[in-house]
Amino acid sequence: MKNSTNQSIKPITTRRNDYGYLEIGGCDLTELANKYATPLYVIDEATLRAVCNDYKDAFKDYEKVNFMYASKALCTSAITKIVASEGFGFDVVSGGEIYTVYKAGVDMKKVLFNGNNKTVDELSLAIETGVGHISVDNFLELTMLNEIAKSYGKTVDIFLRVTPAIECHTHEYIKTGNLDSKFGFDLSQVDEAIELIKDEYTNLNLRGLHAHIGSQIFETQVYHDEIDILVTELVRIEKKHGVKLDEINIGGGLGVKYVETDVPPSTHKIAEVIINSVKLSCEKHNVNYPTIYLEPGRSIISTSGVTLYTIGSQKQVPNGRKYVAVDGGMADNPRPSMYQAEYTAEIVNKPANEDLQKVTICGRYCESGDVIIKNIELPNPEAGDVLCVYNTGAYNYSMASNYNRTQKPAMVLVNSGLSDIIVKRESLDDLLEHDVIPSRLK
Ligand SMILES: *Cc1c(COP(=O)(O)O)cnc(C)c1O
Repeated sequence: MKNSTNQSIKPITTRRNDYGYLEIGGCDLTELANKYATPLYVIDEATLRAVCNDYKDAFKDYEKVNFMYASKALCTSAITKIVASEGFGFDVVSGGEIYTVYKAGVDMKKVLFNGNNKTVDELSLAIETGVGHISVDNFLELTMLNEIAKSYGKTVDIFLRVTPAIECHTHEYIKTGNLDSKFGFDLSQVDEAIELIKDEYTNLNLRGLHAHIGSQIFETQVYHDEIDILVTELVRIEKKHGVKLDEINIGGGLGVKYVETDVPPSTHKIAEVIINSVKLSCEKHNVNYPTIYLEPGRSIISTSGVTLYTIGSQKQVPNGRKYVAVDGGMADNPRPSMYQAEYTAEIVNKPANEDLQKVTICGRYCESGDVIIKNIELPNPEAGDVLCVYNTGAYNYSMASNYNRTQKPAMVLVNSGLSDIIVKRESLDDLLEHDVIPSRLK
């Protein structure tokens, strides 16, 4: 079976050029660091498009499939344009994401709004901008959404988000489909929700069921189990309520390769499991194949992204670790401090394997937990060297903060030797922009 891009640690265009310097998208990373300063997020367009094509290729034998990129992994205007140009729709989780994709000119029918506590303003924005589906998470939202839709004189297509009670082996904080989760209706609450929609909420048009079982998933069996639960539930709903649903949204979650020991399945393997499971369940119950929605986030954007840092101070703990500090850290990449995420890195301007030393890469923020990589072998890291940390496309910029009153980094898009800024570096004045001094303090 074919390999796919999510199984690679590095962007597909990564290479050492004739000077031994690291290059991505035909751009020398040392030059990018000089030109745009560090920390710097770099996105390789070729890798991003390759992943989208992996997905399309993997599912080409199933006609009724919709790819909805989970924007929360990385949502910027330029990224939205690229992903939309590949024919993908968008899974959005806030007014900010709705606004970003709307302003980028996305066909809003291909947008799906998720979240466990959507506000009246966000639901109204979704209806005003014509968002295609809203995945309703709970009873309060059913009532609110029906009222809002009625006030606009509209009917909205919805999914019911359910919790299929599947345990997957990923970090506690990125599990979402187990019984004790804040997300979605428990399966025992589905009947009540359907009766409300049928009898009272006439501005809601139920299209199907939605589940999302977690993130950074390497197992395939969990998708099989999830699909069987969703299809069985569709059949049960039709029998009990006479409501025919023909859509299932199976969420995202496919993992990526951060370090050598990570072995995520390929998109082709996942597609095979998903398609076979859908067919098997449908044949078992003798029903038509549903339209499938997928919401991949991490596996779309993670591998395309790297972060460049400049190495600064070092500390050798007597008889202990050697710390090497970089000019970024937990504010631009909170994942290691949030869930012990691991990364792979290389020095850009030195041959990869000479004079190796075991060091710990730490950030510049005032927290001892601000460590990017524990115990990595690097070729004699020195102040001024540029470090490239791989696989930072997902959940880095989108989770970044201004901790320690630092400016968020810039992001550049590289392709065939060209580099373009797609997010500007914040300035010192940007940091003050929302501050207000009341007149009595002046
Ligand atoms: C986060 C999320 C996704 C994307 O998950 P990935 O692991 O990034 O693929 C998809 N659907 C829902 C509902 C989510 O909350």
